[in-house]
Amino acid sequence: MSEFFDCEVLSIQQLSPTVRHFRLCYPMSSTFQAGQFVMLDLPIEADFSTRSYSIASEPNSEGIIELCIVLKEDGAGTRYIFDSIKTGDKLKVSEPQGKFVIADEEKGLVMICTGTGVAPFRSMIRDLVTKHGSLPHPVYLIFGNRFKQDILYAAEWKALMETDSNFHFIPVLSRDTDWEGARGYVHAFYMPVALENKEYHYYLCGWTSMVREAKNKLKELGYSRKQLKFELYD
Ligand SMILES: Cc1cc2nc3c(=O)[nH]c(=O)nc-3n(C[C@H](O)[C@H](O)[C@H](O)COP(=O)(O)OP(=O)(O)OC[C@H]3O[C@@H](n4cnc5c(N)ncnc54)[C@H](O)[C@@H]3O)c2cc1C
Repeated sequence: MSEFFDCEVLSIQQLSPTVRHFRLCYPMSSTFQAGQFVMLDLPIEADFSTRSYSIASEPNSEGIIELCIVLKEDGAGTRYIFDSIKTGDKLKVSEPQGKFVIADEEKGLVMICTGTGVAPFRSMIRDLVTKHGSLPHPVYLIFGNRFKQDILYAAEWKALMETDSNFHFIPVLSRDTDWEGARGYVHAFYMPVALENKEYHYYLCGWTSMVREAKNKLKELGYSRKQLKFELYD
């Protein structure tokens, strides 16, 4: 059984029409690794009261975690979070969980995600920059969304690209007709990297359909289990 802590909500920010960013107090004693998630135990009428959320912020000494959560219209958990949770409220938050953490910092990394699947990658990237001053190896963030307004933390990625030549940000939009960047689904856009850099490690995060397709494509190219890590949101 996980231990749960009462954590105050310090701020809530609307990141896109359907996604909010939550900043929470978190016990300093409960250290986490970049990429891990926490569970929220919510007072909801449902068979299961816990919901998992990746930590979107880097490990820090301030006792803070950040989460980014997308509203699922018919979802019991997110409906409660969006309708009832305000700044100053307390949430029951578990100890850090999971093994979706960077296995080898010496290798180039390709991070592939859609929507709020970017959360653990924000944690990992910020952690690498904090630890090393800048990214020690090439990091590709291939981020699929429908529309430009859905690109979470867009200003942060743009700023990092301008200051760190190891950071390669490829936003891919599937429905935006007014977009001059990459269009369609993420798969076409990691393929050139995957064909050229066979020693890189691949991290996949989000909904099963995208993750499964990416995993299969990378396996077909000969990538080993050790080079592929994934976190499923459903
Ligand atoms: C490791 C992990 C990290 C995640 N990180 C994020 C994140 O950073 N941001 C984000 O927006 N979402 C994230 N999710 C998805 C999130 O946990 C919820 O599934 C999502 O918010 C929808 O919850 P809901 O209560 O609104 O929807 P609902 O449809 O009410 O519930 C969906 C989820 O609740 C659980 N659940 C509900 N009922 C049952 C049952 N009877 N049996 C078993 N399980 C049940 C299942 O996990 C199910 O997928 C993550 C999921 C996982 C597994």
